[in-house]
Amino acid sequence: MRFEPTELSDAEVALQREVRAFLAEELPRGSFEPGLGMNGAKDPEFSRKLAARGWVGMALPRAYGGGDRSAVERFIVAEELLRWGAPLGHHWVADRQSGPMIHKFGTEAQQRRFLPAICRGELSFSIGMSEPQAGSDLAAVQTRATPVEGGWRVSGTKVWTSGAHYNDWFIVLCRTSDEDDRRDGLSQLLVDLRSDGIEVQPIPFLDGTSHFNQVFLDQVFVPSELLLGRAGAGWQQNASELAYERGGPERWLSTYLVVEQFLRERAGEELDARALELLGTATAQWWGLRQLSLSIARALDGGGAPAVESALVKEMGTRFEQDVLAAVQRLVELEPAAESESLFERLLVAAVLSAPSFTLRGGTNEILRSVAAKGLRT
Ligand SMILES: Cc1cc2nc3c(=O)[nH]c(=O)nc-3n(C[C@H](O)[C@H](O)[C@H](O)COP(=O)(O)OP(=O)(O)OC[C@H]3O[C@@H](n4cnc5c(N)ncnc54)[C@H](O)[C@@H]3O)c2cc1C
Repeated sequence: MRFEPTELSDAEVALQREVRAFLAEELPRGSFEPGLGMNGAKDPEFSRKLAARGWVGMALPRAYGGGDRSAVERFIVAEELLRWGAPLGHHWVADRQSGPMIHKFGTEAQQRRFLPAICRGELSFSIGMSEPQAGSDLAAVQTRATPVEGGWRVSGTKVWTSGAHYNDWFIVLCRTSDEDDRRDGLSQLLVDLRSDGIEVQPIPFLDGTSHFNQVFLDQVFVPSELLLGRAGAGWQQNASELAYERGGPERWLSTYLVVEQFLRERAGEELDARALELLGTATAQWWGLRQLSLSIARALDGGGAPAVESALVKEMGTRFEQDVLAAVQRLVELEPAAESESLFERLLVAAVLSAPSFTLRGGTNEILRSVAAKGLRT
């Protein structure tokens, strides 16, 4: 396990300034309800504007509509969007993992079909991994794709599928053959969420909003040309997909805005010793996590595959997101109201209701500790 120290170059700092200026102009504070981290609202219009600046799919090749930019540059844009509470829900998954997956494993035709639309901020994706009997243990996936004339018939149930009720496509991990080793019979398919035979049933979130779903697939026809990568290589490909999901700034910024807004609403007031201690500790931890996360992006640019490092950062980052929230709650000692005039209170409510999910989504902390521990052993 390696984390090389790194700093932003002058050009990277200039990009950071550019994104900040864009957000201040496009989404002035007070003109929209900020979201917490990657729970930011879905706003296709905003995603298209961001894409027009070259900031969606920016690390994908120019030949497919991308920007040939680096993982660090993508990190900078993502960090600024998350800190701002920007409505990134429409393009988030496609930009972070589906686009890179299609580029890494897709055929030329698949890349030409999907990547330019992703880079224009038009096409949205969901993640089709978890099932009722397969979450941490993804090798237990039971959704089955049976070969038929011209493609596959897919049946099964996916669960916790974020955004499936409004997104366009999802990458489905499914069983295409029965092998002695359960991991050998898995494949990934690109599936149109509006295909015949798909039923999407929202699962109400703690606060009553719809965020994730149960997705039922009943004999859904998927043409052969939508097999992603190689039949039987789904397990290894899926591991790459998880690596894209884990080491980024969304894993330590989910509650950042709560703290920032706490300070904004106390501008001019003298903060007591407890508040100062909380802020000092949180800032130091944010900075440490940011350096680790940035070092992962730099390693990716150097051709590395920092899956173990990403697991560790997600484990530490999501625990920190919860700890800092608990510290704020202890400090303010109030029963926040969802309808409050105070944005701080509204963000606090949203954070309290979504915090339990931080250490589950994208892999639970127990699983991540296993990945990190195995990485330390080798
Ligand atoms: C907000 C949110 C959004 C999500 N979005 C998506 C999505 O878009 N697409 C998608 O596919 N999935 C999504 N998920 C699902 C998520 O990835 C799974 O919930 C997660 O992987 C855990 O799986 P599970 O819920 O089946 O729990 P289980 O695997 O049943 O785990 C239950 C408990 O047992 C522990 N455990 C399990 N196995 C082990 C082990 N070997 N060693 C030690 N402890 C263990 C776990 O850590 C956990 O505490 C989302 C989840 C949340 C909360």
